[in-house]
Amino acid sequence: MNEKLQHLRHSLAHLLGAAVLELYPGSKLAIGPAIDGGFYYDIKVSGKISDADLPRIETEMRKILESWNKFEEIKETEESAKKRYIGNPYKLELLEDLATKKEKITSYQSGRFVDLCRGGHVKSAADIKPDTFKLSHVAGAYWRGNEENKQLTRIYGFAFETKEKLDAHVVMLEEAKKRDHKKLGLELDLFTFSDLVGGGLPLFTPKGTIIRNLLDDYVWELRKKYGYQQVDIPHITKRDLYEKSGHWDKFKDELFHIKTREDHEFAMKPMNCPHHTQIYARKPHSYRELPQRYANTTKVYRDEQSGELAGLSRVRSITQDDAHVFCRISQVEEEIQKIWGIIHTFYKSFDFNLELRLSLRDTQNLEKYLGNKDHWDKAEEILKKIAKTNKTKYEEAPGEAAFYAPKLDFMGTDSIGRQWQVATIQLDVYMPESFDLYCINEKGEKERIVMIHAAIMGSIERFMSVLIEHYAGSFPVWLSPVQAVVLPITDQQNKWADKVVEQLKKAGIRVEINKDNETLGKKIREAEKQKIPYILIVGEKEAKAKSVAVRQRSKGNIGLMKIDKFIKHTGTEVADKK
Ligand SMILES: [Zn+2]
Ligand SMILES: [Zn+2]
Repeated sequence: MNEKLQHLRHSLAHLLGAAVLELYPGSKLAIGPAIDGGFYYDIKVSGKISDADLPRIETEMRKILESWNKFEEIKETEESAKKRYIGNPYKLELLEDLATKKEKITSYQSGRFVDLCRGGHVKSAADIKPDTFKLSHVAGAYWRGNEENKQLTRIYGFAFETKEKLDAHVVMLEEAKKRDHKKLGLELDLFTFSDLVGGGLPLFTPKGTIIRNLLDDYVWELRKKYGYQQVDIPHITKRDLYEKSGHWDKFKDELFHIKTREDHEFAMKPMNCPHHTQIYARKPHSYRELPQRYANTTKVYRDEQSGELAGLSRVRSITQDDAHVFCRISQVEEEIQKIWGIIHTFYKSFDFNLELRLSLRDTQNLEKYLGNKDHWDKAEEILKKIAKTNKTKYEEAPGEAAFYAPKLDFMGTDSIGRQWQVATIQLDVYMPESFDLYCINEKGEKERIVMIHAAIMGSIERFMSVLIEHYAGSFPVWLSPVQAVVLPITDQQNKWADKVVEQLKKAGIRVEINKDNETLGKKIREAEKQKIPYILIVGEKEAKAKSVAVRQRSKGNIGLMKIDKFIKHTGTEVADKK
């Protein structure tokens, strides 16, 4: 989101807050940030607000907007602000935080409305065009995302630079709703959640597991060509590893802790890199043995807050298709080109257009970044060079680098125009320092190495949520858990139908049969609902001709086919990942 849009959206949050206070006096405002696509305000409403009330609130917003001119800054002291927000426990708590952190305290006034805020608004209220925003829906939200806190009402709105963009966004969201992976995932029986197991801990069904494995196998097939080797690590570690890597501190809120019976402290791993460094460090390496490329698809665990969990997009058990390359700085360019190749081949198979963000250091705050400065300079230079030579559309993002590494972030655009961050390559100059990773170079000296982090899907759970919505559940043949279903018209054809299933299974096609005592029409509709790519109908005619009548998803009847021919046909599709 650019700054201008961010200012517009956040200003609209003020306007929303003002309208709610006007219509529901006594309500308490909590926080109102700009978000992707718009803004929201969390409010303890005096009374009740539901979706049906939104048009009235929207009208009030437009009315108030006419009386607004500028967002005037009011410099506050702790005392003046405490007095102003007396009776509002949320603002007082925010105030407390600002005071403890010794940050400056400001309020902003527009019209009669004043709100505690650090700034970031439109220059003039006239910059808010009344037809470029719209309230969308109401949801529950816990204060500070913690379910032990009071529940608030969150009112969401959309806002864009123009009415056209706003309308397009609303249409896109309608489409996205139909494709919601949480709904489709259940309908297609891909995954489930259990209250006994807990929130954010998805359980994958046989069908969902087929998709996960196919995706992971595909990544591995691409990596294998470039000399990657598989490794395996435990899911827990002693505290010592994370103290050394810096993760104990950095991840302290998200870390699942374990106390052993001997009173030792362990943790579930929130990432795999520190474990992998210890595989590299098991013995000294000659420069001739480099690069060492370790690939490892494994789960990591992060204690996300309950309010943040969402289907497969945000979970507590995350399967990463992780890989780390340990190499000399002189080998980095070639290694990253290889990873780049893997990423492009992989995402092309799903028709994702990729754009690139080059995340660099904030040059004003170089002290924030850990590790050898020369390596950092070199690392950034290499990433810039690679971005240029690959002729991909990219933008530089100063200040977006991780504290230990500059990054190439790949953004993929899905079939309904939404952008997702899909893959990252990080060039790490810090962890090799903290774990003292080196090789013995040509002169027989110790030489500091670097480490490349390269996940292709990132999180399989999140990537699956993106794919389900991208395809609206109609997976390409190679990825479909069930590729074909055989439908005998009557019991008379069961014998031939069984024979068909047997032959297809032998050929490696994932096939089911539906012998239920239902009409053919009903069975076809059922198979279509399951988005199965091929429906093979077996009636008297087909049985006699030792064939099947083929219905292809989204194309309809494509005629009678002998089994051999069907096997060849789908075989090509699977091989081409079409
Ligand atoms: Zn503000
Ligand atoms: Zn890593």
